[in-house]
Amino acid sequence: MTFDDNARIDSSKVRRRSGGRTAAYGAGGGGLLLIGLFILSQVTGVDLTGLVQGGQGTTGGGGSTQSEQLTGCETGADANASVDCRMAGAADSLSGYWNVEAASLGISSYRDPEFFLFDQATSTGCGDATSAVGPFYCPPDTAIYIDTAFYDDLRSKYGASGGPLAEMYVVAHEWGHHIQNLTGVLSRSQDGQTGPTSNGVRVELQADCYAGAWVQGASRTDGTYGEPLLEPVTDAQIADALSAASAVGDDRIQGTTANSESWTHGSSEQRQKWFTTGYQGGPTACDTFAVATP
Ligand SMILES: [Zn+2]
Repeated sequence: MTFDDNARIDSSKVRRRSGGRTAAYGAGGGGLLLIGLFILSQVTGVDLTGLVQGGQGTTGGGGSTQSEQLTGCETGADANASVDCRMAGAADSLSGYWNVEAASLGISSYRDPEFFLFDQATSTGCGDATSAVGPFYCPPDTAIYIDTAFYDDLRSKYGASGGPLAEMYVVAHEWGHHIQNLTGVLSRSQDGQTGPTSNGVRVELQADCYAGAWVQGASRTDGTYGEPLLEPVTDAQIADALSAASAVGDDRIQGTTANSESWTHGSSEQRQKWFTTGYQGGPTACDTFAVATP
């Protein structure tokens, strides 16, 4: 996905937390473990990265909570050039999309999630997070947290064309968890069950489906300044998106009671199927709970 170079972007929807400490599970061992699981996921077609959450998710304390507005993120060209600005552009587009579409899911009073970028470690309403956690949505904060160093893996895998799309796919997926928080579906993932038909997997696949819906609608979605931000997606980019859907499983919903769960995100086949369902049918086609086998 590529931004229109001339589109104006509202960067106020994303903030960056500065002053992250050197975390026990920073870019060192935890990062290596993540990469290893990432590769293993590719081989097996099963997302295994959730296993990381067991002992490494929330440790220590003292992560930064001071945040600052992004600077220098004013146009689509900025968003095409830098990760932080790309996050701001994606958030502006997702905000526009869901402000319109939320009603179709019965959400009467839609509000955007908070969205924080961080470096190495940060404190959240779900506990202290490190890079090893990967991108996640924290329901008590109604906030998305992403350590953008996570994207280095994506870039090395998908390259210059696929990387940005995969990054925005992650944002759209986490934004999907926020939508689920508003519809009440999110809590169904916290029943402790695992497996391909579990509620946890159904919730993850629905977030994939919502991401697909946005990818389809993004080029017709106005940002804050009343103009579309993203150019129409190409077939090649869709192929990249489907690859990302099967590989970018490295997120979780970090709820106050859900930390020890080890549900997966579903198989590669399931994730691609539901991304496509959302892409073709929009948000209302994303009822992953209505079918016997999602
Ligand atoms: Zn997820």
